[in-house]
Amino acid sequence: MAADDALIAAAAQARERAYAPYSGFRMGAAVRTDAGEVLTGALVENVSLGLAMCAERAALFASVAAGARPERLVLVAPRTDGRITMPCGACLQVALELGGPDLEVTAATPEGDEESATLRDLLPRGPRKG
Ligand SMILES: [Zn+2]
Repeated sequence: MAADDALIAAAAQARERAYAPYSGFRMGAAVRTDAGEVLTGALVENVSLGLAMCAERAALFASVAAGARPERLVLVAPRTDGRITMPCGACLQVALELGGPDLEVTAATPEGDEESATLRDLLPRGPRKG
């Protein structure tokens, strides 16, 4: 199932707001919650580099703050070594915890290319409850 355009557009808009003065690798994310709400997150870096937070986790955490759970996750980022950039392992683990193995993840480029996969495929043996 392709991610809908509104969710990708929300992630792309969040990407424009990313704070990435060190890497210049701007990333934005959006989740659609089980309540139908679209929430976004942006990469935030820090001069103390270990404090950076991925856009995806920011969006996933926002779903908890909204009293909901993510049903869909979209990331918009530049390619990495020519490949569409998928969420990192830490973000996949958080998505698995909150959305379960059927949550579908779409990664898109600013140019509009995209790939989708479920967490079951992306993190098949990630630890989870239930
Ligand atoms: Zn990440």
